[in-house]
Amino acid sequence: MGKLENVSGAAAFHEDRIGSAGAPPRTASGTSAERVSTVKSIMDKSMVKSETVVAPPPPVDLTAKVIGWCTYNRCYQGSTSWEKHVQHQRKRHCTAAERHALCRFCLELHHAGLQEHLQEHALSDVACSLCSGRFLDDGDVARHKADFHQVTTGDEVPPALGRCTKCPATFSSWEDNVQHQVIRHHKKDADRVCSHCLVPLPSVEFAETHVLRHSEGKDFPCHLCPARLTSEETRTKHLQRFHAQEWAFR
Ligand SMILES: [Zn+2]
Ligand SMILES: [Zn+2]
Ligand SMILES: [Zn+2]
Ligand SMILES: [Zn+2]
Ligand SMILES: [Zn+2]
Ligand SMILES: [Zn+2]
Repeated sequence: MGKLENVSGAAAFHEDRIGSAGAPPRTASGTSAERVSTVKSIMDKSMVKSETVVAPPPPVDLTAKVIGWCTYNRCYQGSTSWEKHVQHQRKRHCTAAERHALCRFCLELHHAGLQEHLQEHALSDVACSLCSGRFLDDGDVARHKADFHQVTTGDEVPPALGRCTKCPATFSSWEDNVQHQVIRHHKKDADRVCSHCLVPLPSVEFAETHVLRHSEGKDFPCHLCPARLTSEETRTKHLQRFHAQEWAFR
C-alpha cells in the first residue's frame, strides 16, 4: 500500500522556504521554440519547390507553465499537467510490478486491492483545484498540493525559479536546487558541498575559510535567489545557467 516515498533523509535538508519573488516563470520552451523555427524554415523551402500541401505543425504553447514537480528522490522534474506527471512517475520511478499497482488518479500504490481503491474513487473522492489529480480525502489533497504543486500558502503554484544544467529538473526555490544537486549529482561529496554556492569543498580547513568568506559578505549574491557565488564570473554563469537569463547581459 502506501505512496512512493522520498528515499533520502531529505527531512534533514528542510529549511523554511525563501520566497522566489521577482523571478519570472520559466519553462524549457527555448529548445522547442528553436525546433519549431527550424521545422518552419524547412517547410517553407519545401513548399516553394513543390505544390504539396504540408499540414502545419501542431501549435506549441510557449507559455506552458510548470504546475508541479516530482519530489521522488529529489528528482524535481517539472510537469505541465498531472497526466504528464503520472506518465513520468510510471516511466522513471516504477518497477513493472508497481506500474500495475499504481492508481492513476492519486499515485498511490496498491499491490493488492487496486480495484477496491478505484471503486472508492468512483464512490467519492476529492478533486485537486490545481490539476486533474483526485484523492480520497481533503488531507490527501493538502499533502498533494504541498508536495507536487509546492503550494505553501493559499492556492498558488510558485513560479519556476531556475533549472538544473545536468538534467531536466526545474526548481521553485534555491533550497530545492541545493537538495537536488547534493542528492542527484554529488553523491560522492554530498557532505562537502557548500549550500551557498554549491562548490564542493576539498577539506575541513578549506571549508572554514570558504564559509568565512560567505559570512563576511566577501561573496557575490544573486539578486534573484538566495545563492551567493564566489566571483563575478560564477555569478554571471549562475544567472545564465540556473536562471537562464541570457537576455540580462545583452
Ligand atoms: Zn521524478
Ligand atoms: Zn487513487
Ligand atoms: Zn493537483
Ligand atoms: Zn539535475
Ligand atoms: Zn560557498
Ligand atoms: Zn540566483
